Amino acid sequence: MIRTGAEYREAIRDGRAVYIAGERVKDVTTHPMFKPLVDIRAQIYDMQHAPASRAVMSHQQDGETNAVGNKLPFIQADWWDKRRATDMVLEAVGGIVTRVGDETVGEMWSLFDGQDVLNEVDPQFSKNIRDHIDKVLRTDPFHVSANTDPKGDRSKPPQEQDPDMLLHVVKETDAGLIVRGAKYETAAAYADQAFTKPTIANWGNEAYSDYAVGFICDLGSPNLKFICRTGFAGRAPAEDYPLSNRFDEVDTLVIFDNVLIPWENVLFYRHTKAASFIRATLHRYSAFAFVQRNLKLADMMIGAALFNVRQTGLDKQQAVQEKLAQLAVYREGINAHLTASITLAERSPGGLMMPNQSLLYTGRVLACSQLHEMMHIARELCGGQICVTPDKAAFEAAETKPWLDKFYSVNDDWVAEDRRKLLAFARDLLNSDYAGHRLTFQLFAQSAPFAHLAAVYRNFDWDGPLDFVRKSAGLSDKVMSPTARLPGDRAVNQWFGPDETKA
Ligand SMILES: Cc1cc2nc3c(=O)[nH]c(=O)nc-3n(C[C@H](O)[C@H](O)[C@H](O)COP(=O)(O)OP(=O)(O)OC[C@H]3O[C@@H](n4cnc5c(N)ncnc54)[C@H](O)[C@@H]3O)c2cc1C
Repeated sequence: MIRTGAEYREAIRDGRAVYIAGERVKDVTTHPMFKPLVDIRAQIYDMQHAPASRAVMSHQQDGETNAVGNKLPFIQADWWDKRRATDMVLEAVGGIVTRVGDETVGEMWSLFDGQDVLNEVDPQFSKNIRDHIDKVLRTDPFHVSANTDPKGDRSKPPQEQDPDMLLHVVKETDAGLIVRGAKYETAAAYADQAFTKPTIANWGNEAYSDYAVGFICDLGSPNLKFICRTGFAGRAPAEDYPLSNRFDEVDTLVIFDNVLIPWENVLFYRHTKAASFIRATLHRYSAFAFVQRNLKLADMMIGAALFNVRQTGLDKQQAVQEKLAQLAVYREGINAHLTASITLAERSPGGLMMPNQSLLYTGRVLACSQLHEMMHIARELCGGQICVTPDKAAFEAAETKPWLDKFYSVNDDWVAEDRRKLLAFARDLLNSDYAGHRLTFQLFAQSAPFAHLAAVYRNFDWDGPLDFVRKSAGLSDKVMSPTARLPGDRAVNQWFGPDETKA
């Protein structure tokens, strides 16, 4: 089933307690700081119905029309379909939106793969995850991700400080669990549900903990409060900050002030083994859509930088061409990882098709860890004019217009208005408050860089190079011992050639 934009808007007008800049928001769908993203999310829903886009955005399953982004991946083609649908959305909206559902729903598929672990804990939990994956297909919710707690003093266990620093269960009832704490969640204030689970935690030898709880949170639940950071939209004219005003995805500290989580929404509880499993495999699927956003960001940087150097005739300089080539190498590095992760996709323990894990996670490190350098190269190529150019009002005011027309008209093809627009776009992409925020988002939104590298460590096939060196150096068999793995990590050498993955 697929919803319409209107149905989505209606669903989030549920009286939830949303605060921004110290004020309670009356209607999140019309508030100027939320409206741009609510409109884009509604547009995505409507694209699933529109004749021009529905063939890419939706698919038929058991006589129903479902969203491509929500489809469980079973074959390689499912990943090409998802990639195509995401590209269509980003092309249609003309910028980057990440936390709009397709990038987070895959976190649940990781738990689908962990049904053996859940069965050991309680078979009801594995039924719950299957039911929720089915519910996503049937109801097409806007699904987001909740991992990160305020955490407090990391040198102390939660019991030795304010226990709410990490979200935890305070009571079991017949109806479900009562939970307290808080989570940072981008887009939660205008989404339908969040997969809520522990952040990276050191459980030590504890087999059970009140903090080891994972559930689907209905974001319309009583006793939730959404305290948002101030939005970028509306702070300055849209003509001067075109990205800030259209693509700001508002982050929220979601307060759980004794919230009831019905049992059917609980995906695991008390067993630290289940919590460790989900941490180790969380981004197995969802990293694909996240990294795909970096590819689009690279395209935006290349486009802005190249237009600028063409305008000013600098693209003939070899040193400038080399810098453009560096941007292209970064872009194609991401493209290669995404493409190869589909072509060498792997069968998951639960029978799904995962993007090749080593290639996907190394691609995520490449994309995120080099982004700041690429932004700097693009900034350099755009020149200092991106941060010294006057605003649109000055280009229009009678007294200043003639001067700005004179100095910003480069030639017959590049008149002042286009040059102003390009510089404003580049400023918002590379230099503005929003630009810094997006850089930080790519650094942290799927965990911190150390966690990205930990995922690479756990999924790279170390035994291949070890075995090669063992043979080449004439070492004995005894030196080969299996690499230690965390629960839920894939077995080494468990990859299939392209032909086997098509079935
Ligand atoms: C724009 C933005 C959007 C976000 N959206 C979401 C969201 O939608 N949902 C969600 O759940 N979270 C979200 N987050 C939170 C994000 O997941 C966390 O910021 C991230 O996991 C890091 O946690 P922290 O901020 O508590 O940093 P800290 O835990 O304080 O870590 C800071 C730094 O300390 C070092 N460090 C800490 N622990 C270790 C360790 N064990 N080993 C090595 N080094 C370590 C690292 O250098 C690390 O980068 C978002 C964050 C940002 C910035």
